[in-house]
Amino acid sequence: VIKNLFELEKIAVLGHGNGGTVYKVFHKGTSSIYALKVLRFNDDSDRVWQQATREAEILKLVDSPFVIRCNSAFYNNGLAVGSDEPGGADLSFVMEYMEGGSLQDLLVSRKTLLEKEISEVAGCVLLGFRYLHDMQIVHGDIKPSNLLVNGEGKVKIADFGVSHVVDGGGVARHLLLESCMGTCAYMSPERFDPERWGGGGDGFAGDVWSLGVVALECHMGRFPLTRAGQRPDWATLMCIMCFRERVEVPETASPEFRSFVERCLEKDWRKRATVDELLEHPFVN
Ligand code: ATP
Ligand code: MG
Repeated sequence: VIKNLFELEKIAVLGHGNGGTVYKVFHKGTSSIYALKVLRFNDDSDRVWQQATREAEILKLVDSPFVIRCNSAFYNNGLAVGSDEPGGADLSFVMEYMEGGSLQDLLVSRKTLLEKEISEVAGCVLLGFRYLHDMQIVHGDIKPSNLLVNGEGKVKIADFGVSHVVDGGGVARHLLLESCMGTCAYMSPERFDPERWGGGGDGFAGDVWSLGVVALECHMGRFPLTRAGQRPDWATLMCIMCFRERVEVPETASPEFRSFVERCLEKDWRKRATVDELLEHPFVN
């Protein structure tokens, strides 16, 4: 167990996100490699820190082969989150290191994946969803860069930077960061336009929508909701969500894959497939 941030030695930068930077680090005590995500906060009010502390505590409880494990969280003064000392402006999460990088990296090098591979990815993500949703956790930011691949080619869900924990009332309560800090491209219609879709849904269905977009992207080799070359900005996506009848799946897709994607990309979240239904779907089963 890592007790202090300074036990870790930075080896390389693995990537940059909207909230901060991910490093490859070495822990001398156990001779192991980890990934360290350093989040930067502009707002260091008590409320933000209270939320961050709570989120860090939740992350430590997550323990599934389909979800990236977060071993510990630290403030930039090196102390563990939850210790009596107050924190500083940064918050760091120690995670398991994923050798294969992200699905985003894989799509850059391979352009497209075979349906067999997409089925593998979808199966892992759905089992991750089942685990998280059982814990009342909505991920809220499923996209290729947040799905990581390990040395054995297994996929795990990463990055709870914008994750939510659903409270008793079934309303997704927001922790840590504002939603849609980065790309909104994978966001469900009910999050774009809660009024049109009856109050914004339970959040869990939103994760299913995002998986559908990712699966189709792996098949097409480009972001699937917009036309080739068209930027998936807020206004364009809003038009697609409101005016286009349904998302078009290319002719090259098998009937099983088409049906899987169409069940994920059902615009009305009440009619969209649930995680349990998709785990039984012929495409992943
Ligand atoms: P966002 O800030 O919206 O999540 P992002 O996912 O691109 O955007 P990060 O989560 O900071 O940004 O991750 C940046 C990159 O670092 C990822 O694309 C991935 O390549 C790499 N990375 C993240 N976590 C790990 C990890 N645990 N093991 C190996 N590489 C990682
Ligand atoms: Mg990320």
